[in-house]
Amino acid sequence: MHNTILITGGAGFIGSHVVRLFVNNYPHYQIVNLDALTYAGNLENLKDIKEKSNYTFVKGDITDEAFIDELFATYSFDGVIHLAAESHVDRSIMDPLAFIKTNVLGTAILLNAARKYWKDNYEGKLFYHVSTDEVYGSLGEEGFFTEETAYDPRSPYSASKASSDHFVMAYHHTYHLPAIISNCSNNYGSHHFPEKLIPLAIHNIKNNKPVPVYGKGENIRDWLFVEDHARAIDTIFHKGRVGETYNIGGFNEWKNIDLINLLCMVMDKKLSRPPGTSAKLITFVKDRAGHDLRYAIDATKLNKELGWEPSLQFEEGLEKTVDWYLSNEEWLENVTSGVYQEYYSDQYQKR
Ligand code: NAD
Repeated sequence: MHNTILITGGAGFIGSHVVRLFVNNYPHYQIVNLDALTYAGNLENLKDIKEKSNYTFVKGDITDEAFIDELFATYSFDGVIHLAAESHVDRSIMDPLAFIKTNVLGTAILLNAARKYWKDNYEGKLFYHVSTDEVYGSLGEEGFFTEETAYDPRSPYSASKASSDHFVMAYHHTYHLPAIISNCSNNYGSHHFPEKLIPLAIHNIKNNKPVPVYGKGENIRDWLFVEDHARAIDTIFHKGRVGETYNIGGFNEWKNIDLINLLCMVMDKKLSRPPGTSAKLITFVKDRAGHDLRYAIDATKLNKELGWEPSLQFEEGLEKTVDWYLSNEEWLENVTSGVYQEYYSDQYQKR
């Protein structure tokens, strides 16, 4: 039984959904959320659960070895769910070393702390690493990524995540550290920082700004509602087999341009604008360097072995997401002020 659980990156997009689910569903667990509160971390994401007695927030950096060692000594964690990461591919192209530091070194420091503090008793312990399907590289028009697909990362982000996955399994094989990895497709939903495609498009459409789409919008991604990802993490954490990898995805592939057109239709409806208004904002911009053509996840193992399946159709999830952004304008305004403006102008306007 995992009683005290460290969740890293819990103030971020996916992490905040995982923290909320664990705090609400497992009142007998103590949940410690460790987050450095980078530009992507926001405690506003957790304001509904911050007073719960089984929840503690700790501000700190996973790359600070002495601090992480002390944290493990203080709390005697039974389980770790590791989500803290630099997560945006475009930023990794601008500053790869930051990704190597947090994603590779930070993960290794956590693994090492777990090994040191658990080594006399691995019973009931688990190190769960949350990773991405991007480690598998790019697909052609056919086929799916399975757990057997060879790693072939192509961006500094995916290379750093692939490397951290390898360290997790290296610690499992070398030191017998009980570890599990899941590799998930693109997530969407509430509390998503508006540098990523869907929240960026919602934000720009709402403000009548151009909606940048890379290249011709031909790239294909497999989209999963973030709360379904959080449920999958819960399932795998409690029922997954140690030493295994589980792919998580929604069998929900969309060409970027088709997704943006669908989103424009939803936005026209929600904002009571004449059909076609939002689509006029679509602006094709220079493609991302090394842009992977297609990702598609085969999540059969997770479904057959552990019974998980996505709960929402994409159209339904997209409407829920738009509704959340339109009724949480303050959240969006707060995260899009200041440093976001500098990032946005570097990425899309200074070319
Ligand atoms: P995010 O960028 O929204 O959140 C990352 C969180 O980690 C932030 O709260 C940030 O403050 C924190 N963080 C960053 N560096 C840190 C450090 N050095 N120490 C402590 N905390 C730090 O990311 P996300 O989209 O929620 O992704 C979470 C995890 O899931 C990542 O590991 C990512 O690789 C993985 N993932 C994401 C997706 C996706 O579609 N977003 C898909 C599959 C897997």
